[in-house]
Amino acid sequence: MVKEDPRALAAVLAHELTHAAQPFDMDCVDREVEGHRISILVWGTFWKRRGPVRTALEQELAYETRIFEEEGEDGLYDLIVSEPALSSGVRALNRSARAARLPLPGRY
Ligand SMILES: [Zn+2]
Repeated sequence: MVKEDPRALAAVLAHELTHAAQPFDMDCVDREVEGHRISILVWGTFWKRRGPVRTALEQELAYETRIFEEEGEDGLYDLIVSEPALSSGVRALNRSARAARLPLPGRY
């Protein structure tokens, strides 16, 4: 099992905490765009330039950071819409939890 850097886990946690503060009736793609933007910002605060790419999670954060830097929120929107796993809130939650090796969220 690959152990994730606590800074990468902080980025995932920030993403999930963002969802906890979002209105329940918010569009699911908008929810994900905001969640990914927050995780990118948190990840970026830990590094002077780009962060490391040692694990799949770090590679994902680096990829999303590049998309955000080059294309802004429009790029994140396109990325999320193009990846079905990211456009479903529950599936995205489960994906992030798996990446961080956190307990999977229940249905509620
Ligand atoms: Zn999410």
